[in-house]
Amino acid sequence: MSTSFKSAMERLKGSIRDVPDFPKKGIVFKDITPILTNGQLFRLAVTIFAERYQRKSVERIVAIDARGFIFGGALAHYLGIGLTLVRKKGKLPYQSHQTEYALEYGQGTLEMHIDGVEKNQRVVIIDDLLATGGTAEAAAKLVEQSGAEIVELAFLVELGFLNGRERLAKYPVFSAITY
Ligand code: AMP
Repeated sequence: MSTSFKSAMERLKGSIRDVPDFPKKGIVFKDITPILTNGQLFRLAVTIFAERYQRKSVERIVAIDARGFIFGGALAHYLGIGLTLVRKKGKLPYQSHQTEYALEYGQGTLEMHIDGVEKNQRVVIIDDLLATGGTAEAAAKLVEQSGAEIVELAFLVELGFLNGRERLAKYPVFSAITY
């Protein structure tokens, strides 16, 4: 790893802001918006994913509501492939598959359009952060229901101490930054 790459990664990690007690008491929220407001850091974050997937014959990016859309959109644009949205219940206009999930601070239902991905399509699922893994697991189930192939689950940030990776043990998992 080159020194400049290492220091860029340190800047990326260093710019993530801890917000205690958001959205609930006891949760330390990892705020990635300082990365978005810095053009160089935002590009670096997207480039990490782009370089990882550009030669892996990925055919679709599936991005998770809501911060996953930011990185997923930029990545799909870079790779020149389509983007599919996994959204919280009631947001998608067309007929959708549904999966229930539990997350670090709540519970909910995720949805994806029934034609969101195609059978055997090679898919990367992306979100900003892996905590307990409940959200990503639900998104992966939606993708599997449609018969697509999960190449990898990708996250900018992983909270390693919450063991989300174990919950996702049946899938390849990549994260750029770990706490
Ligand atoms: P989980 O299902 O527990 O892995 O939670 C992951 C989802 O919740 C992602 O969409 C994250 O954006 C969000 N999330 C959970 N915990 C945090 C946290 N501590 N800081 C920021 N986002 C979080």
